[in-house]
Amino acid sequence: MNKHYTVIGQPIAHSMSPTIHSMFGELTDRNILYTRTESTPDTFSKTIDDLQQAGMCGCNVTLPFKEQAAVQCHELNKSAKDAQAVNTIHFHADGIRYGHNTDGSGLLADLKNNLKYVVEGKRILLIGAGGAARGALGPLADESPSSITIANRTLQKAQQLAKAFTNAKASITASEYNAIQPDDQFDLVINATSLSLQNQLPPLPDAIFANQALSYDMMYGSNDTIFMHWSQQNGAEQVSDGLGMLIEQAADAFEIWEGIRPETKSVYDFIKAQLA
Ligand code: NDP
Repeated sequence: MNKHYTVIGQPIAHSMSPTIHSMFGELTDRNILYTRTESTPDTFSKTIDDLQQAGMCGCNVTLPFKEQAAVQCHELNKSAKDAQAVNTIHFHADGIRYGHNTDGSGLLADLKNNLKYVVEGKRILLIGAGGAARGALGPLADESPSSITIANRTLQKAQQLAKAFTNAKASITASEYNAIQPDDQFDLVINATSLSLQNQLPPLPDAIFANQALSYDMMYGSNDTIFMHWSQQNGAEQVSDGLGMLIEQAADAFEIWEGIRPETKSVYDFIKAQLA
């Protein structure tokens, strides 16, 4: 019998997760069915109850429900606790709901395994302090970068985030955009805002890219994002969108459910071609 998984979001019609997980199922010889589920903030907890009662084995959770999902779980692993957000729920046979956050591990897998980037010792600028930034911060700090600066429109959110990670293996500071100076140099610049969706740039100086800098936009689409173009024009040596992160966070979720991590390159190539 197929094991049934789903992704919950609002909207959800364009999610690529069903395609990605179906390919993972084929690659690992697992019989899985993966569907989409639309919910609303008011009905999210009932959606989770209904899915569990219907015998689902797990679900992914995307915008805008990741924080609500953390509240709906009985147990959270470290990444979900750190982020206070869940993107992967595992329904165990005893009824316990385990919450995980694979956004950060997916980002790190893309940086390290696909882009061959070494985070240790690097000066990182993390732009944004929403759910994606929260998920990324712990795994980034675990790589012992020399510093992490979180820049966000709402300074208070960046400050709260930095405070939550005071015991991390990196020096983490919060900043407003206009406090970033042109002579502040960063080796790794990560855009974890939703600005590229609106074809907008964060208001940062042009000269922030250090020699050999990598610029990473968590957003992905059919074309390079405005942030990737801006980074290239201003000296970033390497630029990437977030498609690799999407595939890798899905592979981590699949491993949590099925106990095997699928190969990701062929799935990345397929989805990239679909987007184009
Ligand atoms: P959130 O809504 O939680 O956070 C949005 C962030 O963008 C906040 O920091 C917010 O700042 C900032 N922002 C939004 N609008 C503006 C604006 N007009 N000016 C300045 N800052 C703005 O979203 P997520 O963190 O969940 O997602 C962020 C991005 O990451 C999205 O593009 C999403 O698609 C992508 N993502 C990609 C993933 C992948 O696998 N590749 C996984 C998860 C997310 P403020 O706090 O001031 O409101």
